[in-house]
Amino acid sequence: MDKIKQLIRPHILNLKPYSSARDEYSGAEGIFLDANENPIGSVAGAYNRYPDPYQRAIKDKIAGLKGVEARNIFLGNGSDEAIDLLIRLFCQPEKDNVIVFPPTYGMYAVSASINDTGVKEVKLTSDFQINVKAALTAADKRTKIIFVCSPNNPTGNLIDEQSILSLLEQFTGIVVVDEAYIDFAAEKSMLKYLPQYRNLVVLQTFSKAWGMAGLRLGMAFAHEGIIGYLNKIKYPYNVNSGTQELALAALDNEPTKNAMVAEILNQRQRLAREFEELDIAVKVYLSDANFLLVKFEDPQRIYRYLLEEKIIVRDRSNVELCEGCLRITVGTAEENAKLTECLKKYPVPQV
Ligand SMILES: *Cc1c(COP(=O)(O)O)cnc(C)c1O
Repeated sequence: MDKIKQLIRPHILNLKPYSSARDEYSGAEGIFLDANENPIGSVAGAYNRYPDPYQRAIKDKIAGLKGVEARNIFLGNGSDEAIDLLIRLFCQPEKDNVIVFPPTYGMYAVSASINDTGVKEVKLTSDFQINVKAALTAADKRTKIIFVCSPNNPTGNLIDEQSILSLLEQFTGIVVVDEAYIDFAAEKSMLKYLPQYRNLVVLQTFSKAWGMAGLRLGMAFAHEGIIGYLNKIKYPYNVNSGTQELALAALDNEPTKNAMVAEILNQRQRLAREFEELDIAVKVYLSDANFLLVKFEDPQRIYRYLLEEKIIVRDRSNVELCEGCLRITVGTAEENAKLTECLKKYPVPQV
């Protein structure tokens, strides 16, 4: 832990965190007159009470499902909270920097910028992989975090595990592996490397495979030292009671999640095949996620055509390495059928 401690912003090492009523007494039974809650409440449910600040019940279930210890889990208001807190934990504003591999998820760079932290961009290779040597060369004494997104958004592919392991071994800072789409991937999570690498943080989310994007619940897995500091700097009650209850219910029903994932994978395969057959599609990239990146002859015109049909996809055609591409989320069988039907009818402009 000492090496990790050296990476943490010094003032946080000595920070005395806010101590909430639920920190000072965490028992479940009794007459609670300690948190200035309203004892009556407005709506059905115990929403007049503050939630468990450490989400213990959910963490126990996640620990069981993922084969990790509860003390290695942090839960946040979406993975976006974990991304922000990691930057605030390790990066000194105006001095430190992070490395990202574009094209990738935009929140790493945005969160870094909000925190006045530098962003070094090391482009992915043309096959959307990490150039480890370039990353290590770009890293300097003030580089605290490298963000790896695998499977990567918007390209959809897994990052070569060996490359990530090389970063973990050769980079002296923190390597965050964002696995928002891992349930849709052919390869397993990097979670198995947690005991081996103290500088590894794995992010996962309830927003994609679990189908709970609106509830905002993200997971970070790491050495308990890192998790302890994240808990120290988070808002005391960062995950609300409604989210905690619904997440518990979902976790009791993992087979339902697995069935949704299986259906989405089935649909992804069908969609990919249908796209392949379209004359207007130049390339359908392999996907390990719940979306497809597709290169078109005339992406922006197709984007607007689909909009008129009330089908909204993501225009990534101006993104470097994704030139000409639309990012298309896999929908239900019905939604996908409507999409492919529209694309088949697309009136190709005559030149
Ligand atoms: C969708 C997505 C997330 C999820 O973020 P939440 O805040 O948990 O909803 C995280 N990372 C990537 C790369 C994503 O595409």
